[in-house]
Amino acid sequence: MENMRCLRCNRELEAGHKSVALYMFAQTVGVKPRQKSTAHRISFCPQCSVSLAMGPPPEGALNMAAWDMIRDLVGSDPALNQAAWENLSGILGLLPATGTDGAARSAPTGGYFEF
Ligand SMILES: [Zn+2]
Repeated sequence: MENMRCLRCNRELEAGHKSVALYMFAQTVGVKPRQKSTAHRISFCPQCSVSLAMGPPPEGALNMAAWDMIRDLVGSDPALNQAAWENLSGILGLLPATGTDGAARSAPTGGYFEF
């Protein structure tokens, strides 16, 4: 099995880890023969999912559609927020206690999907 990575932060998502997966495939309609593309799976870690859902709407119709779906998930149950919070606590626990620069992690600032 290939290793899944979060599309936004490139964090490795091991099997069994919590994440949000978007499945996408294209299919012709009203055209014969009907064609279907392979299905693609796009993953987001809990932090990015929550961050994207809380953030401003992205540009582009496809990005908007994905954003809406993620907001749907994040907004309907706190489980994903909880997972993000747990991951964040784990990361913070590993950081050396150097004081005030806790925000200096290299999280990507562009919160947009890139299809
Ligand atoms: Zn991520």
